Amino acid sequence: MTLGIAVIGTGRMGADHVRRIETAVGGARVAAVADLDADRAAAVARGIKGCSVHTDPAAAMAAPGVDAVLIASSGPAHEAALLDAFARGLPVLCEKPLTPDPAGALRVMEAERRLGRRLVTVGFMRRYDAEYQDLQHTLRRGKLGRALMLHCRHRNAASPSFFTTEMLIRDSVVHEADATRWLLGQEITAVQVLRPRPSSYAPRDLGDPQLVLFETSGGAVVDVEIFVNCGFGYEVRCEAVCERGTASIGAGGGLVTRTTGRAGRAVPQDFTVRFAEAYDREVRAWVGAVRAGRAEGASAWDGYAAALVCEAGVRAQRSGERVEVRLPERPALYA
Ligand code: NAD
Repeated sequence: MTLGIAVIGTGRMGADHVRRIETAVGGARVAAVADLDADRAAAVARGIKGCSVHTDPAAAMAAPGVDAVLIASSGPAHEAALLDAFARGLPVLCEKPLTPDPAGALRVMEAERRLGRRLVTVGFMRRYDAEYQDLQHTLRRGKLGRALMLHCRHRNAASPSFFTTEMLIRDSVVHEADATRWLLGQEITAVQVLRPRPSSYAPRDLGDPQLVLFETSGGAVVDVEIFVNCGFGYEVRCEAVCERGTASIGAGGGLVTRTTGRAGRAVPQDFTVRFAEAYDREVRAWVGAVRAGRAEGASAWDGYAAALVCEAGVRAQRSGERVEVRLPERPALYA
């Protein structure tokens, strides 16, 4: 059977996922799309046979031929769409963050627990990036000894106009919160944020860049430079410092050109380029799992844990203090 997917939100990520499902993922098709902006939804659906167009996410989920949902609307719209999908028993791939706040993430997790089965996968796609997977295998194999520190850098060429200082944590560093938990297999126990004088190229009122420090349950320390107006491109790096060596990813291989006295590599300008393969693998893995009736990837628990870390991060940002993360016991559904 071909899995019919309703895509909710047809902005940048949603449009990219529609293209991906139609061209790069076997066994699935886009059966419906929904966006508050009807013209945007219609433009994305144009040329896709049998794809209905809606402004109401619930109507898209109820459309004929819909077996699963991909949520790519803005973060604050995720909770309502997730609860709608649960009410219909539809499996969901939800773009990160699960919800922008832990209270919403907890409501989603509790609703899923009441159903008694995992329906949601959170789109923490770094788990599908080949370099991140290599790093995780290297750390798990243990040849380098215990991981003591991670040095992470997360840089964007420029932030969108609506980006706020809080979003540096909730929208961007949320990736490092999940990647840290996944790479180390440890929970994040405390967060601190150091704020240098903002770049004069950052929009007014945006505290950019920042240095975010995580402490983990296994005694590791993680520093994350988040710099969303670095100017030169999109760069995500991670170096693990272990007892017997280091392992690093994100330096950017590929073509080197030498001309007019300089040698250099192109720097990707955004995540759709740097993580193109990871998104493809993520959606393929999700489609495969849904068709096989399995759960896949980051769970609602992972989305909730990341939201709790981000909440502590935002409090640390505001207070300048070290803020502890209080994670409850992991429910059996997510063992
Ligand atoms: P965007 O602003 O380009 O698109 C969001 C779309 O959602 C817009 O078209 C908007 O009209 C629509 N929308 C908002 N509320 C809606 C609602 N209630 N019902 C229907 N449509 C609604 O944003 P984007 O960059 O595409 O981000 C979308 C999601 O993807 C966000 O959760 C974001 O954090 C995530 N994202 C993930 C990655 C990643 O690397 N995994 C990268 C970028 C964005």
